[in-house]
Amino acid sequence: MENNNNGNLKLAIQKKGRLTEKSLELLKLCGIDIENYSERLVVSSQNFPIDLLFLRDDDIPEYVQDGVADIGIVGENVVREKEAQIEVLEKLGFGKCKIMMAHPQNMPLNDPKDLNHKTIATSYPKILREYLQTNGLNSKIIELSGSVEIAPSLGVADFICDIVSTGNTLMMNKLKKGFAIFESQAVLISAEKTIKDQEKSAIISDLVRRIRSVQSARRSRYLMMNVPKEALPKIMHLLPSLRSPTVVPLADETLVAVHAVIPADYIWSIVDVLKQEGASGILLLPIENMIP
Ligand code: ATP
Ligand code: MG
Repeated sequence: MENNNNGNLKLAIQKKGRLTEKSLELLKLCGIDIENYSERLVVSSQNFPIDLLFLRDDDIPEYVQDGVADIGIVGENVVREKEAQIEVLEKLGFGKCKIMMAHPQNMPLNDPKDLNHKTIATSYPKILREYLQTNGLNSKIIELSGSVEIAPSLGVADFICDIVSTGNTLMMNKLKKGFAIFESQAVLISAEKTIKDQEKSAIISDLVRRIRSVQSARRSRYLMMNVPKEALPKIMHLLPSLRSPTVVPLADETLVAVHAVIPADYIWSIVDVLKQEGASGILLLPIENMIP
């Protein structure tokens, strides 16, 4: 393997799939340049001591556990199913999905107890087994590696347990959504021994700090608006800004400009009052990074 022992931190990400683009985008927002990414197994960053390893997502927990990669980005569903000895360093807020029970129209599923003594097809046997055990249920698990949704119509299973997002595949197979048994998102993982390695753990800390700043920026917006001077005390009171908002004088002396960092959704709870108080030119801008 190329670039194997250059002192760089080895980060495993999914080679081709739902997590690939978001993982690369996160690195980019962290200011980590990855160029010449094409069909190669290992790619180094030009401006950060990191090598990317492109792998099947199923293999990532084990490769991290065994030290082939130092850290990895993978879904919590895969981490749990593979039962690898790894640590979750950070939840990443993308790749969100649910593992759900689904049932044929003529086989109602209103309560977990309805699963008892039934047969369930799944590609997540360990997650399902754990769920059944914690709920004291005794069901038979049929493990399938794909196309789980056809199992009930083939008479192989009463219910299925699978990743569901839109529910379109279920509908096409005349199945209905039941309840979720596991909620997942992409996470950054590491092996315990990697964290104990001083040089590697310094690079990991730098990366995690950058990821956190990207995440808090994602949850925030930069609000700019003009407000009548006399409304300023009331408007300041509405803003939950971490720091004191910036107030800038304007050419029109009856107005001031107010700038503040606010939680992304918060604007909708205050916009009517802001307008009543005479705020105008309200702009809400994305923030790329927020450094604590
Ligand atoms: P690979 O070839 O790497 O094994 P895959 O087909 O197993 O890819 P993808 O379908 O690309 O995997 O999904 C990768 C991860 O994306 C899943 O393990 C899950 O954590 C997450 N995910 C988010 N939304 C969905 C969804 N609607 N369906 C499936 N996975 C989803
Ligand atoms: Mg996979």
